[in-house]
Amino acid sequence: MILRRFMRNVTKQNWLAVGLDLIVVIVGIFLGLQVQSWYDGREAKLQEYKYLENLHQDIEAGVNLISDGLTEQLAIQDGIINILDYYAGDKGLDELTNADCSALALSHKQANPISNLPVAQELISSGNFQIISDERIRRAMSDYVSILDLLSDRRESTQLFMVDMTSLYPEIIDVDLKIARKRLENIPPSHQCHFEAGAHNTLFKNQLAMNSTRQWQLTRTIEEQLASLEKLHHLVDEKLRMSH
Ligand SMILES: [Zn+2]
Repeated sequence: MILRRFMRNVTKQNWLAVGLDLIVVIVGIFLGLQVQSWYDGREAKLQEYKYLENLHQDIEAGVNLISDGLTEQLAIQDGIINILDYYAGDKGLDELTNADCSALALSHKQANPISNLPVAQELISSGNFQIISDERIRRAMSDYVSILDLLSDRRESTQLFMVDMTSLYPEIIDVDLKIARKRLENIPPSHQCHFEAGAHNTLFKNQLAMNSTRQWQLTRTIEEQLASLEKLHHLVDEKLRMSH
């Protein structure tokens, strides 16, 4: 209809009406584009919000997982330090406990609290990373993923040098033979340790001390991982206006 009226005005050489028709069309196109752009912006914001909510759930699960792993790792580390203190003459035999004996049996074990944050991985691999508008959150996510790579490299290299003391020193550690049954029943195993038998075994003490330094290195990385995830958590909380 506008086109027919426009052509009639051109034929009649009514240039004022032609000009007004052109203005109406241009304003219409402009408003249409504005509405489309507002709609696209709103859709992008909703999508970002959804991603951040899912990311927040991943982060909370990750923080719990890493904290549990760190507690486990620190308990092993503390136990090994107590035993080494005994061999150094700084602790009495009666001060060593069953928990220290468990730590000796697990001195080669590394907690494995890998939390990959599936949402962050999906955003990075799908190229949708830019949907997160806050640059600080994007950077914190990248930093966290880099720490995971570092942790995995460090775990692989330290694992090569960790020594399983239970298989090398049966005269010092009697492994609880019901260990598998107790695991099934969720009961902690109770190994028996004859710490005094290791007092004059330099190889045993050296290997235990070296296991302890490797445990220490890994603990530092897990602490870095937790700090990095908590930083990301803080930024996401801020964006979602959440407080805990
Ligand atoms: Zn939170």
